[in-house]
Amino acid sequence: MESPVVIDEEQEKKIILNKYRSLLRAAHLKKNDPDKKLIRKAFDIAVEAHKGVRRKSGEPYILHPIEVAHIVTKDIGLGTTSIVCALLHDVVEDTDMTIKDIEVLFGDKVATIIDGLTKIEKAFDQSEKTSLQAENFRKVILTMADDVRVIIVKIADRLHNMRTLESMRRDKQLKIASETLYIYAPLAHRLGLYNIKSELEDLSLKYKSPTIYNDIEQKLKNTKAVRTRFINQFTLPIKRALDNMNMQYEVKGRPKSVYSIWNKMRNKNIPFEEVYDVFAIRIILDSDLDSEKTDCWKVYSVITDFYRPNPDRLRDWISTPKANGYESLHTTVMSPSGKWVEVQIRSRRMDDIAEKGLAAHWKYKDKTQESALDSWITRVREHLEDPELDAVDFVDDFKLNLFAKEIFVFTPKGDVKSLPHNATALDIAFEIHTELGKHCIGAKVNGKLVPISYQLKSGDQVEIITSKAQLPDPDWLNFVVSARAKAGIKKILKSERKKHEKNGRKILVSELEQRQIFADAENFEKLVEFFRAKNTQDLFYRASTNHLDFKRLDNIKHSKGKIEFNRKKSPKTKTLDELLETFRGNKNASVSLGGSMSQFNYRLASCCNPIPGDDVVGFITGSGEIVIHRMSCPNTVKLMSNYAYRIVKAKWDNQEAISFMSGIKLTGFDRRGLINEMTKIISNDMNVDMRSITFDTNDGLFEGTVMIYVNDTAHLSDLMGKLKAIEGVDKVSRIGRT
Ligand code: MN
Repeated sequence: MESPVVIDEEQEKKIILNKYRSLLRAAHLKKNDPDKKLIRKAFDIAVEAHKGVRRKSGEPYILHPIEVAHIVTKDIGLGTTSIVCALLHDVVEDTDMTIKDIEVLFGDKVATIIDGLTKIEKAFDQSEKTSLQAENFRKVILTMADDVRVIIVKIADRLHNMRTLESMRRDKQLKIASETLYIYAPLAHRLGLYNIKSELEDLSLKYKSPTIYNDIEQKLKNTKAVRTRFINQFTLPIKRALDNMNMQYEVKGRPKSVYSIWNKMRNKNIPFEEVYDVFAIRIILDSDLDSEKTDCWKVYSVITDFYRPNPDRLRDWISTPKANGYESLHTTVMSPSGKWVEVQIRSRRMDDIAEKGLAAHWKYKDKTQESALDSWITRVREHLEDPELDAVDFVDDFKLNLFAKEIFVFTPKGDVKSLPHNATALDIAFEIHTELGKHCIGAKVNGKLVPISYQLKSGDQVEIITSKAQLPDPDWLNFVVSARAKAGIKKILKSERKKHEKNGRKILVSELEQRQIFADAENFEKLVEFFRAKNTQDLFYRASTNHLDFKRLDNIKHSKGKIEFNRKKSPKTKTLDELLETFRGNKNASVSLGGSMSQFNYRLASCCNPIPGDDVVGFITGSGEIVIHRMSCPNTVKLMSNYAYRIVKAKWDNQEAISFMSGIKLTGFDRRGLINEMTKIISNDMNVDMRSITFDTNDGLFEGTVMIYVNDTAHLSDLMGKLKAIEGVDKVSRIGRT
């Protein structure tokens, strides 16, 4: 559709300057108003930022922000801050300029508004690929916009885009038109911007259903003469009466908008001809603030003297204005031809507010003050949030009072999720997917690492970090708030408990094996007593969830406790001397490790956590136990130099599939998604069970410790190799190595 444009730069410069001058005129600034400089500054920056860029229509991009600024001041009546923001609204999104730059140049108020606009822009952009979450976006706009001006500039932006929709692709036209109808028109309505709301609706219909639109528009044209005659006849007696009363007024007989006619036809399933109030007659009074209400009722009385009113259709928004500030008196009366006619009675001031929204209020006070505008904004904000006022305003279909109890956060893909107030990172993990919640070990919020219990705020971008080894903990129920997360955790806890019990049994067996204790039912019962568990199931569960301190088993035989475990044919009766004798007598004697047939009573040292494959030695303790250390363990060196005669050979036997705990330390440069990648590698390894994981980041550097169960050194170094290969990981080392 792009036609070759012959660009006349001089001509374009003229057009741009003319538009700019017309914007300044619309802003009604005094000759030496310092705000002029500010607007000029914003204009110059926008011109520079969008230099050489063209819209789909071929015209210079800068015309768009100028037009948006024009709408903001002329049609909505806002002041300098909003004009500046409108001029700059696409600068951060489309160019290298940052919010920081804007803040330095224009202060934090303008920067905040531009930031809000940019965020909303991003949310909408990213939505293109995902499903239309219009309901959410409407809420997002409201929650992210700390300043109502964000919404207003956004509406003005959309209005100009709708006015220039012609040059867009058909599918884009449809998307933008639907969005406008669903999101922006109701927002404009909500803010009392009736003219803009009508225009947005009409333009949406024009692109969504051109046939219907053209048909109604044509019919409106065809019936114009009839309508004008009717209005003249209808208003004639009223005008005479008002003239006799010496009232100053204006009568407008405006057809309803194309969209509202179509809406009525569709809702009531009637043809155009039967839409009885195709037009409303409006009587605008030039009354003082003091007498305007009385005058409106006087006019009402005059009208009903001539025509019979429908008692069900009296709307008094003079005594009780609508939440958005709308004031007017509506009545529907029967015309002599038997047609119902709606008459709207209001003062000039009320009419201004009806057309331009609450901003028009300030025309009647001291509007030049920016502080006055601020208090208006506060008022709109209150209107948006006050549930009481909401109830009064029956037209509104969306209930903003709910929003205070909700927050809105973004997924990395830009999807929007709504969550209850005080929701945590874990809540959103469950909101996205149960699997994600189940394995959640933390999150990155706006790029920063946070724990799962971190409380989110509206507008946060959240990336969930998971580990397959992670499983729900009953503690989680103490901080999640969403019903979904709570139910999810409970359900998983139940099924995980079963898995834990199974896994815990394995761990227990492995720990007992290493201590030459029989893993039999009788010993399990004794362990229940020893660890004060409720029953064996509970014992297994606690073993699996790291709630058993197995080291306590190592001291048991010295403590002369009541509990005696059934031990394997164990040479524990041997004394230090007997053991020394055994080894002295046989040069090849060694402690065989890992198998269930070891003839010696040994345990693995907790200082270096030896695993199969490590070079190890045994050290005979005073109590006749052999402690296995890694050759590289600092303690080994110490023992060797002091008690060389008590050091004995030890070697690994062919292993049954028993896992040993080992620790890995990782350091490197932090980046987005890094931890996720690491935990993925670890947990995707079928034979690795992660016991714990801790990560710290500081100034872009991270340091982490992962405790895992592995089979042997080959297994461990394989895993370490894979971790080392991750981009950003600088050092991977085994804990306990010198
Ligand atoms: Mn724009």
